[in-house]
Amino acid sequence: MIRLLPDEVVDRIAAGEVVERPAAVVKELIENALDAGASRIAVRLEAGGRRLIRVEDDGEGMTPDDLEKVFLRHATSKLRDVEDLFHIASLGFRGEALASIGAVSRTQIMSRPDGAAEGALVANDGGKVLPPKPAGCPPGTAVEVRNLFYNVPVRSKFLKTEATELSHCMESVTRFALSHPGIGFTLLHNGREVFRVEQNTGLKDRISAFFDKKVAEALIPVNKELLGIHLEGFLGRPELGRRDMRRSYLFLNDRFIRDRAVHAALRRADREVMPEKFHPVYFLKVGMPPDWVDVNVHPTKIEVRFLDGARVFSAVHKTVAEALAGGEKFSSAAGPPDSPSYAWRPGKSFGSMEPRGDAGPAVREAPCPGNLSFTSGASTPDRTMAAADETAPESPEVRPSRSGRILQVHETYAVFETPSGLGIVDQHALHERILYEDLRKEYEGGGIRLQKLLLPVTVDLEPARAARVSEICFALNHLGIRAEASGERGIKVSAVPALLKNSDPHALVSEVIDRVAEGGMGEDAYRGLLFSLACRAAVKAGDRLADEELLALLERAEQIAYSGRCPHGRPTMVHLSLAELEVMFKRRGF
Ligand code: ADP
Ligand code: MG
Repeated sequence: MIRLLPDEVVDRIAAGEVVERPAAVVKELIENALDAGASRIAVRLEAGGRRLIRVEDDGEGMTPDDLEKVFLRHATSKLRDVEDLFHIASLGFRGEALASIGAVSRTQIMSRPDGAAEGALVANDGGKVLPPKPAGCPPGTAVEVRNLFYNVPVRSKFLKTEATELSHCMESVTRFALSHPGIGFTLLHNGREVFRVEQNTGLKDRISAFFDKKVAEALIPVNKELLGIHLEGFLGRPELGRRDMRRSYLFLNDRFIRDRAVHAALRRADREVMPEKFHPVYFLKVGMPPDWVDVNVHPTKIEVRFLDGARVFSAVHKTVAEALAGGEKFSSAAGPPDSPSYAWRPGKSFGSMEPRGDAGPAVREAPCPGNLSFTSGASTPDRTMAAADETAPESPEVRPSRSGRILQVHETYAVFETPSGLGIVDQHALHERILYEDLRKEYEGGGIRLQKLLLPVTVDLEPARAARVSEICFALNHLGIRAEASGERGIKVSAVPALLKNSDPHALVSEVIDRVAEGGMGEDAYRGLLFSLACRAAVKAGDRLADEELLALLERAEQIAYSGRCPHGRPTMVHLSLAELEVMFKRRGF
């Protein structure tokens, strides 16, 4: 027999979708507060949110009439008709959060519209709604959710420890604090303040408040509109890359979302500077007209569907790639990963050299090193202009100064004077990047130029690999190494990439063979192969280089993208400014 379920059961089933743990309640209540135009939001938790979640705001409040309907399913003030669904500008719109939360807890709402003489209170006791009654309260709204899941033991059992639930709640508040830097937030747990951020601070300040200094100091700003899509925020420098996505913050029209395509676009832009398997750190706000995106595809609205996913992908990819190519230019590669404490800190080095007055926290936004380019003058227009245009502060030139003197140190590093300090280059890392960029340009631009060998060389394959000789030859030819099967298990090589003509063809071929034997041959694999070719062919630590050779390297660096990092993501150069030297030698402020 088919029966209609009683409302009570329907409510509890629905609650399971929206309210899966305390953090979900925190999220829904903060969304409501923001939709109500709050400028300050205070969250108070007890026992990881299990015993109490209280969210108080100074928003527009609700009249007793509103309060009467507040717990009804599909009761909302944010949507009128179906058309509205495609122009959603509020965070909520489904009108079911409070109904769901009320069904699985003991909830009380106190609210008072601005200007009303007094407020009112409604309660929902596990689905039983009590009518509003007058109550004294300040303007705004306070929602109190007690004993979450007290009437749904299965749910309750799935909750984790207090500490774990608290950390989820913190993450939830953090996301809002980042997406709404204008709003003040406080979070208290068991009576103790966990954090507080004041109103009207910038995103950068919020990032500094929530994450360790290393993160805040290694950010590259982005601010650009492309294809009608606005991107704003900060990209973490590659050295922040993580094995998880916990610092990948994406906000779409001020709503935190997860989106595989956008993340993939960021990763693709990043892959020139970030080792594989790592996820980029970013705090990125994507803005687009509300009718370009359907936010109504997921109960908690954490996933969305773009009308034109390809457009979003390319806008994100292009913008981020440009910002990184600019930010990862030669000069600005972060400093040594573990800088000794007396030395400069990555990211701090190129800021204004003036001593800072006490102009308040905003000064921390001072010129970000991320957008310096290798020189202030000629750099390849296609990749660096955009980033330079928007933010370039007074970029110090980080090229050998006029003297042109250069010193090779331990046959590994080149040290030279720059107009504003001292540059140190890792000769292998830089050469590797240059070769890779050149190879890649040829590869992507229709083919790698070949250089015929005077005498063909033959490389023997191990028996296990001989079976794959045609696959290997195909890959080799694709990469500009002219090769054909020869004899039982040999490969005859008659030409190599012109760019790599000085390297040992044996070494190049063996490198490719190893790689092909290891993995598939997708586009990414070819990139990997170009990496390894560049790595093989690049000068090594231990190679003695003449001054002219070193200078030529530095000159080339000015012309290519990503010159600040080798293809494996290591910095190619470290720069010490005069100001930093002065600090180190205590010439200043001693
Ligand atoms: P939705 O947010 O999807 O509309 P909710 O169940 O979260 O659904 O809230 C129902 C309605 O209650 C909202 O549309 C809004 O009118 C009102 N409301 C909820 N919380 C607040 C608040 N903090 N301040 C003012 N109004 C609120
Ligand atoms: Mg809501």
